[in-house]
Amino acid sequence: MGIYEDKLSEKLSSAKWLVFFTGAGMSAESGVPTFRGEDGIWKKFSPRELANVDAFMNNPALVTEWYKHRRKIVRQTNPNAGHIAIAELERYFEVTVVTQNVDNLHSRAGSTKVYELHGNLEKNFCMDCGTRFDSGGVDTLPDIPRCGCGGLIRPDIVWFGENLPAEQFSKAELAIENCDILFIVGTSGIVFPAAHLPMNAKKLGKYLVEINPMESELSYYCDVVFRENAGKSLAAISKLAASLQA
Ligand code: NAD
Ligand code: ZN
Repeated sequence: MGIYEDKLSEKLSSAKWLVFFTGAGMSAESGVPTFRGEDGIWKKFSPRELANVDAFMNNPALVTEWYKHRRKIVRQTNPNAGHIAIAELERYFEVTVVTQNVDNLHSRAGSTKVYELHGNLEKNFCMDCGTRFDSGGVDTLPDIPRCGCGGLIRPDIVWFGENLPAEQFSKAELAIENCDILFIVGTSGIVFPAAHLPMNAKKLGKYLVEINPMESELSYYCDVVFRENAGKSLAAISKLAASLQA
């Protein structure tokens, strides 16, 4: 028996609700660069310098240009086997994705319930009136994008020093409280408050499964650990789920 059958068959056969808590490693095989992989003119800025509200207010054109650049890169990538496997699992289970990623790849893969704890590169809003704008439209606006009301349009990204979106966070908490298995995929578990979610799940007695080629801050809490890449592991888990249904 393979390691997935060995370690997951029993849990998966009785499970109804799966939650996937994902981080940057989820998108590594899609080729989405991490913050450390920045190139070209952007190399001289650290994300911390650009991804905060003061930077935006001081130089909205520069920060807007950086987000345009990041969107361009992400749009050239595709969901990988792992994103697709999570979307496929909706055939057999209630599936909720709770992601720290802003790359929109879970939705592009077809997942229908995605809570984005750190925002989404494809979304923006007016800082004065709150009107929402898709990035497709914002990318065609002048260097400093403004709403009809005159307010600045900013990316719907949780910047350093900002709070997480309360509604997405509490929906994520609720899904985790009700799930049967929590999969923790491609996250180092060092970014708070997001990392509180899997820690609290452990306190609630949830079954935790980690998928990460490296040890993380969350490994200690996990019942089962697969030291594998997200694509390979999740494809195997989706296949196992299909065979259990057959
Ligand atoms: P992180 O960079 O701190 O950790 C990534 C983790 O993924 C590591 O533990 C690593 O071992 C693991 N990993 C690497 N390749 C993997 C693979 N193929 N399969 C599975 N796991 C793999 O990422 P984090 O914990 O998400 O924290 C980074 C923060 O930066 C987040 O808040 C996120 O919002 C942001 N960020 C997002 C993106 C994105 O949207 N794709 C990219 C960069 C950074
Ligand atoms: Zn406005």
